[in-house]
Amino acid sequence: MNKSDVLKYLKDISEEVKDLSLKVWNNPETSGNEKEAANLYREILKNYGFKIKEVDEMEHALIGEYGSGSPVIAVLGEYDALPGLSQNLDTKFNPVQEGAPGHGCGHNLLGSAALGGVLAIKKYLEETKKSGTIRFYGSPEEETLIGKVKMIKTGAFEGCDLALSWHPMNANVAIESTFLSNNSIKFKFHGISAHAAASPESGRSALDAVELMNVGANYLREHIIDSARVHYTITNAGGAPNIVPKEAESWYFVRAPHRKDVDDITERLVKIAQGAAMMTETTVEYEVLGGCYEMLGNKVLFDLTHKNMVEIGSPEYTEEELQFAKTIQESLEPKLVEAEVKKFVRSGSEKTYLYEGVVEKEKSDSVQITGSSDSGDVSWIMPMNLFLTATWPLGVPAHSWQATSSSGSSIGIKGMLYAAEIFSGMMYDLLNDPKLVEEAKAEFNKKTENNKYVSPLR
Ligand SMILES: [Zn+2]
Repeated sequence: MNKSDVLKYLKDISEEVKDLSLKVWNNPETSGNEKEAANLYREILKNYGFKIKEVDEMEHALIGEYGSGSPVIAVLGEYDALPGLSQNLDTKFNPVQEGAPGHGCGHNLLGSAALGGVLAIKKYLEETKKSGTIRFYGSPEEETLIGKVKMIKTGAFEGCDLALSWHPMNANVAIESTFLSNNSIKFKFHGISAHAAASPESGRSALDAVELMNVGANYLREHIIDSARVHYTITNAGGAPNIVPKEAESWYFVRAPHRKDVDDITERLVKIAQGAAMMTETTVEYEVLGGCYEMLGNKVLFDLTHKNMVEIGSPEYTEEELQFAKTIQESLEPKLVEAEVKKFVRSGSEKTYLYEGVVEKEKSDSVQITGSSDSGDVSWIMPMNLFLTATWPLGVPAHSWQATSSSGSSIGIKGMLYAAEIFSGMMYDLLNDPKLVEEAKAEFNKKTENNKYVSPLR
């Protein structure tokens, strides 16, 4: 069995992979509620002879393992949907159920491509009896940026040599590093309640503390790096105005391109909270609800990803699919579409609805994902790659009804199957060239030598 046999076998089982993807799309479950999706994955993996391992205290997480010996390759799959993004397969806004969840981030595709990739390589390992272990990681709760952070904490990734990942998007591109690191923190202030008119002197207002903390945080802004973001809401502001608030709470997000900056700013924010407590003679406690790392790049895996993307070749589209993409584009802000077409499409080309081809390596760092992902944390405990494929028309933003619709269309399925092929191709290369694994690990070790992963969950 050579690489093209593996890809051919993947084609043979592609109907099953597609079916899984559409089943998950038709039954969107939000973060933490991915019960049916996780069971679908367990069932298929079991049928294919994978050993299923459960993850402590995470009902909807799972690991499907096949093979033995090294290298041990992790492939990351997700399957959670987003609240409020329900949508039929349509070119106009048309929710299945108003306000219900939908796959506006394409995680129905994300998980199934990863699964398709491991199923094809399983066949290869079975036939050739080669040394190597493949693990499919069913990772829930990505949209709340916590699933993989929790999985790392339970030790679910122990023993892996490297991890492979992708995300549905508007273009075919290998990405070396991206994502913002972040922290989500709640500050709870405790004061003393009193009648606000009769005996204000005996009260100590927790709400005063929240407000003074916010003032302090707003002064902090001038003295942090430009690329950092600090945003907050007040989640408890006390009760009636005639009672000095005994309890009050604020919720902060801190984001920056590097984990170290997020940690530094968080530390300064805690000092501001303590200062506010001191000023108001209240007390404060804080809880880091979650947080994640930016993605640490790995040049060896980046090169291997790009090589496979070019080698395999991107999908072609039918007239009908191009028409679907064009109509979807017409529902978007023209500026959004123009900007993306300008970024990705070569001048003179008429193909401005769907991205075709693979973005050149030199231009790939122009593609930045400005959000955060818990996959970032995985890249800090072992070498990890990332690539995107075109599953949505150019200009379609993630977390939109247009993304939900496209993720359930044949365009989404084509991008997903292309991703599965890239995974298979990469695993084939890694199993056949142990030097690649060693080089990826050496690069990782060098980069993390003086900068080890510390879980954002303390
Ligand atoms: Zn996503």
